Amino acid sequence: MVMDLEWNGSWSKKAHGYFNEIIEIGATMLDERMQKIDGFHAMIRPVVSKKLTHLVTDLTGIEADELKDGLSFEEAMQQLTEWIGGEPTVLLTWSTTDLLVLVENYRYFFKRTHIPWLHSYADAQAYCQQHMECEKNQQVGLSRACDMLGISDEGLTAHRAQDDSEMTARVLAKLYEPESFVKFLRPADEEFYKRITFKAYIIRDIHDPAVKREHLSFRCPACHRRLKPKKDWRFFNQSFFAEMPCPGCGKEYTARVAIKKKYEGVAVKRKLTEKVPKPAEPETITQGVESHE
Ligand SMILES: [Zn+2]
Repeated sequence: MVMDLEWNGSWSKKAHGYFNEIIEIGATMLDERMQKIDGFHAMIRPVVSKKLTHLVTDLTGIEADELKDGLSFEEAMQQLTEWIGGEPTVLLTWSTTDLLVLVENYRYFFKRTHIPWLHSYADAQAYCQQHMECEKNQQVGLSRACDMLGISDEGLTAHRAQDDSEMTARVLAKLYEPESFVKFLRPADEEFYKRITFKAYIIRDIHDPAVKREHLSFRCPACHRRLKPKKDWRFFNQSFFAEMPCPGCGKEYTARVAIKKKYEGVAVKRKLTEKVPKPAEPETITQGVESHE
């Protein structure tokens, strides 16, 4: 089953923060060959905030008036569960954002951390990106994917839940290979929920145990000597900075390291910039970006 959601973000006292309330659900049921069997659609009457943000109205064209006769989230989920019909269901969404929003809504309205009908999950965007000619680490939007694959979106409206789910289904049908798809399936177990609800954050303390010596170690691109920071590392702009003169050739560098704590480990971005009075060729001044999982 491919699902797409539209939601409205608002401040919620109960959620102690920003909450993305689902206002529209679209789903397309597919067979084993990724061919459409059936569709599901529901508009949901928001209760956290009846006022829709401009962002939502501009993107989706949904007006608050349209939602007055919508279902409650509870009713919509009941209908969806009946529509699914007790079969073990694989859920697919275009990027994990919709999955996370669904989990948050379940938690908010049902006080449940698990989605009862969800057996396994696959990120359709991650799968499709790996099977299309596109640059690594580049996020491909759904309409862009349709363009690239020559898939017609005739009669479909982008940024509306049901049509987006149908578009995702068409992209999948085009790229689907059972052997490679299996590798993208994640069972919806305890670890799965922990992973998706983990909030990645930038490490601000240089003495954090996740900060390893190699993250902060640089060599001079010119003479390959190991650089030493002139003073302590400073944190600003989401990164650690240090002045690094080369003890060999005397060139002066600024090192920038950003370390993000993710569920599966740390992601490190490193950059070394030479301090030069006159502009130098770009390839000599940056060491580039390096990632550690
Ligand atoms: Zn040097």
